[in-house]
Amino acid sequence: MKKIAIYPGSFDPITNGHIDLIKRASKLFDTVIIGITQNSKKSAFLTIDNRLKGATDALIGIDNIKVMGFDTLLVDFATAQNAQIILRGLRAVSDFEYEFQLSGMNKHLNPDIETLFMTPAEQYANISSSLVREILSLGGDISSFVPTNIEILLKETFA
Ligand code: ADP
Repeated sequence: MKKIAIYPGSFDPITNGHIDLIKRASKLFDTVIIGITQNSKKSAFLTIDNRLKGATDALIGIDNIKVMGFDTLLVDFATAQNAQIILRGLRAVSDFEYEFQLSGMNKHLNPDIETLFMTPAEQYANISSSLVREILSLGGDISSFVPTNIEILLKETFA
């Protein structure tokens, strides 16, 4: 059976931290699906189309991945894609509480789907999409946090 993992998130925008995780995961699973959603609690800075295109372009060269948008329950999206695994990133203890709650709810909704956590390389552990947006809005240099295509996309959107 092919091991298919879904890596869900807002990816607003995708950062070098997300990409580090995706590269690691692509070596562990047959397919990694980057599932991009509009988080109902957060209003997105980039449109869903720009987040999809931005992630697709940023991940060129990694063959066993797919970038998809979804608008349903995560466990239902996973089932529809024949995925057995939900992948989430943990950067610091502060991520733990929310991620623990989320994985518990998803396990309750579908006990057959397993949540796995991965940590990024140390140099990416402090990167978050929201900090990247904040630094950009204050005129700071974001080039070490996101790939070039995302930097361009963010600057165009902000202008
Ligand atoms: P969400 O809004 O669902 O939290 P994000 O796009 O912010 O979506 O993040 C998706 C996943 O990636 C989450 O599990 C988050 O903890 C993880 N993540 C975010 N930034 C990093 C990073 N720099 N390194 C590793 N994982 C990260």
